[in-house]
Parts: sequence; structure tokens; C-alpha cells
Amino acid sequence: MKVLLIEDEPKMVQTLKKGLEEHQIEVDFALDGITGLMLSDQSEYAVIISDIILPGGVTGLDVIRQIRYKGNQTPVILLTALGLTDDKIAGFDAGADDYLTKPFEFRELLVRIKALSRRKNGNFANQSILRYADIELNLDAKTCTRSGLNILLTPREFALLEYFLRNSNRVISKSEISEKVWNLDFDTGTNVVEVYVNFLRKKLEKGFNQKVIHTQFKNGYILRTEE
Ligand code: CA
Repeated sequence: MKVLLIEDEPKMVQTLKKGLEEHQIEVDFALDGITGLMLSDQSEYAVIISDIILPGGVTGLDVIRQIRYKGNQTPVILLTALGLTDDKIAGFDAGADDYLTKPFEFRELLVRIKALSRRKNGNFANQSILRYADIELNLDAKTCTRSGLNILLTPREFALLEYFLRNSNRVISKSEISEKVWNLDFDTGTNVVEVYVNFLRKKLEKGFNQKVIHTQFKNGYILRTEE
């Protein structure tokens, strides 16, 4: 099991890392929120443990909001010296799963990590919903919603959106789409990808201010919420 620890007190990092490793839990750590976000993009963690107040302008709450926004559902435990109800509510609102107020006992953290990692594995087994921003794709029910509104997709559009959601924030070339979604060789010279991306785009973006599928370098597309 591997966890990510985002904490700016080196002593605390050292103690927790040592303790967790004694329990066969591998630890990657970041001393600020930006590094924490970077690491959370690069590796799959069983649990993310983050302090709230961090240097560098990205707080623990920002970290949670960002990773949830990207569709990352890794459980997050917030560590903080703040124990006020308002802060707890802000933490849960941002998408935290658990909360520990400093000072805490190491074994309490250990118990919570284990509980959350079990929950995550359980969820993974029947993980059937893909999310990105306000878009939700239910792979079992074959339904799609944006901001809670139903969007009717054909099976091909559904498959295309699934591929976009699994590769969000990454430029995907037309040839990659035709190969992975259509099982076609790009040399067939078909513009089928372009046509279907436009169908999907219209359905997803009609009535919404925020565009989600952007054309990149003429040859590819990217699913993301910023221009
Ligand atoms: Ca701190």
C-alpha cells in the first residue's frame, strides 16, 4: 500500500513516514501543496493525508478540490491544528473523507488509513461511474449527465466520451481515437472521428457556458475545463 503525505513540518513527515513504513505502508511525501498535487497526478495512492495550512499558496483544501475536480476519488484525511467545527465542515465540503486534529496518536491515523483504503478498494471493485468536472458517466446504466441533467448519447458517442474521461487533461490525437474507440487504422482516411467529436461536443456543450472538448494542434482533442 502506498500513501501520499502532504505536510510542511519536516519532523512530522519524518515521524509519520517512519511509523507508516514500519507497518508496510510506503510513503511519498510533499512539503507543499503544489508538489502534493503533482505527485497525486503521477501515482495512484491508497490514501492521501494532507495538512490544511501549507506554504506556497495551495492549501490542503485546495489540494482536495483540485484532485476531486479532476475526477480523482482517492480518500483524503486532513491533518490540522485547527479543530473548529467550521474548518471541519469546510474540509468535508471540499471533499475530504476524514479529519484528524493535531496532536493525534499515530495508531489513530493508522486505523483511519486502513479503514479508508479498504473502502477505496471496495469502491474500485464496482467502480462504474466516471466523472470529470460536472460530467458523470455511469458505465453500468449507460447514462450520462452534466450538472445533473441527462444527456442522451448513442453507443458510439458514449464510448468516445468514456475514452475522453479516462484521458482527461491530455491531448488525444484523431488517430489514437480511431484506433482505440473505433478499432480502425487511421490510414482509412475517414473523418468519422471529427464528425463524432462534433456530435458529442454539441450534446455536451449545448446550453452550457463552459466548453469541455477543445481542438488542439488541428490534429487532436483535449477534455478539460479551461481554454
Ligand atoms: Ca502546516
